[in-house]
Amino acid sequence: MCGIIGYVGNKQANNILINGLLALEYRGYDSAGIATLENNEIKIMKDKGRVKNILDLDGYNELQGTYGIAHTRWATHGKPSQENSHPHMDNSNTFTVVHNGIIENYNELRSFLTDNGYTFYSQTDTEVIPNLIHYYFKNISKNTDINNTDKILEAVVKATNDLKGSYAIEVISPLMPDTIIVARKDSPLVIGTKSDENFIASDIPALLTYTKDFYLLDDNEFAVITKDSISFYNKDLENYTKEIKNIEWDASSAEKNGYEDFMLKEIFEQPNSVRETIGSRLKLNESCNFDDLQITSEYLKSINKIFIVACGTAMHAGLVGKILLEKLCKIPTEVDIASEFRYRDPIIDDKTLCIYVSQSGETADTIAALKLAKSKGAKTLAISNVIGSSITREADYTIYTHAGPEIAVASTKAYTSQVVLFAVLAIHFSELLGYDNADITINSDGQTIKLDNIKKDILDLPKKISMILEDTSLIKKFADEAYTQKDMFFLGRGVDQTVALEGSLKLKEISYIHSEAYASGELKHGPIALIENGIHVISILTDPSLAKKSISNIQEVITRGAKTMVITNQDLENTNFDYIYKIPETNPLISPILSVIPLQLLAYYISKNKGLDVDKPRNLAKSVTVE
Ligand code: GLU
Repeated sequence: MCGIIGYVGNKQANNILINGLLALEYRGYDSAGIATLENNEIKIMKDKGRVKNILDLDGYNELQGTYGIAHTRWATHGKPSQENSHPHMDNSNTFTVVHNGIIENYNELRSFLTDNGYTFYSQTDTEVIPNLIHYYFKNISKNTDINNTDKILEAVVKATNDLKGSYAIEVISPLMPDTIIVARKDSPLVIGTKSDENFIASDIPALLTYTKDFYLLDDNEFAVITKDSISFYNKDLENYTKEIKNIEWDASSAEKNGYEDFMLKEIFEQPNSVRETIGSRLKLNESCNFDDLQITSEYLKSINKIFIVACGTAMHAGLVGKILLEKLCKIPTEVDIASEFRYRDPIIDDKTLCIYVSQSGETADTIAALKLAKSKGAKTLAISNVIGSSITREADYTIYTHAGPEIAVASTKAYTSQVVLFAVLAIHFSELLGYDNADITINSDGQTIKLDNIKKDILDLPKKISMILEDTSLIKKFADEAYTQKDMFFLGRGVDQTVALEGSLKLKEISYIHSEAYASGELKHGPIALIENGIHVISILTDPSLAKKSISNIQEVITRGAKTMVITNQDLENTNFDYIYKIPETNPLISPILSVIPLQLLAYYISKNKGLDVDKPRNLAKSVTVE
């Protein structure tokens, strides 16, 4: 998830590697490490914490090697610690590997390798990779006709064939001096080139001080890199050439992968972050696999209430979580704002499960609310994006969103990942409770579906998010018209109301426009008094069983002069709405994951039109560690 760097040339590698890691720091990390090779011996320096800690480690200044690999870790499996930091080695100390990404089937691979005599020294998913390479290399190495580098390349290809998930890896070995093998799938990796030296990094900016000439490695490609050669291979070990790209970016736009702001980059990362959240937890025609969560069916059957407690955007994700848990598990679920929950003496006992949601895992109010529930005998479950964060250390159970580091203060990809995780969790609980085959009522018309239908809809989400992101022109057009407004309204019914709340919050956070979100049916009970000529009202309409009622509410505001945009998956032709923004259809229970995306973009474009700092809105902090 975080960053990798590599160097092979004539210069001393250690400082180049460290400078590369420092240039990747903006991506967020919890540990760092480097490996260089000299006199046929691999030297590894690694630790949790900041990159510059490595400079103080004994022996750093004596590192002489002219090639090496380096890593900043953003932990996904195993807490930040020295032994979990990368690089990792195989048991025979022949292969040293750094890895960005997540190996979803690492448990199976670990058991397979353990059965074959391998021992594991870290809790990471990564450690299976060097050992798998060794496992395949052992057999190939008997063939004396091919050189070591080719043998290792073949072993790397075979090992990656076994990996499910995402990876960008670098491999070095004393058996192939002055050579680095790299591979990638769904994690970034670029190769910067110059005469007599080559560089590897997770992104272009880390290398811009050295070169502007890059090879952009694609998924399922492999490269064998020495100081004066780069050879590309596919999975069939066929060698081919690739075109060099000359990069004209300045360093700051490159950090954002060419996007103008981190927020926009993170909005566009959502097909992938949602895919990572689903990971190997959900498959069609199989029970959910939550090997990171030890909640039993006996325990679930013993509880009679769930609380979801969070702040801001995470609380809005919780509102969808409530609908999902109640529909799929039939357990009454309440959502609370953490800062209120902790002071209102909530009724909690050992029959209550309390779920806490925090992207950073450091939200002070949420942590305090968790401690309160524990003291009253409830079990606590944390949902966080940051491995080893405070909340995960306090909670009885933890599950991670695996959305990757989120840098923009206004949360986007963390929200969609939290909602997806609630959906998968609700399915898992439903299976544990024995409702595998039950008919689930999904709307007020009484329409029912089976769990497998929801699973399929969840698995289709990344593709549908990409479809939405393909064309954002209508949202831009509405933003061009709306950015001078002083007030705006967001309306929705049922699950759409939760998205209205999130859309309104996003707008407030980054555009400083006052906005209100209301349940459409509530409008007449007061707020409609504020509707006047020219006011902009955004409605979300994704549940066909509520469409007629919602359309009537939209008509009520149009009659009073409002300009309207409707975000919908329904066919609403022949209406008098000013803008209709179509999103792909999906099950209403998970529709927020799609309908929120145009709202994120709307807030973004309005903020840009106003010339504001999208990534660092005034008065706000990414991780709210004070109460
Ligand atoms: N999944 C690996 C780990 O937790 C790599 C994380 C990363 O990309 O930094 O160690």
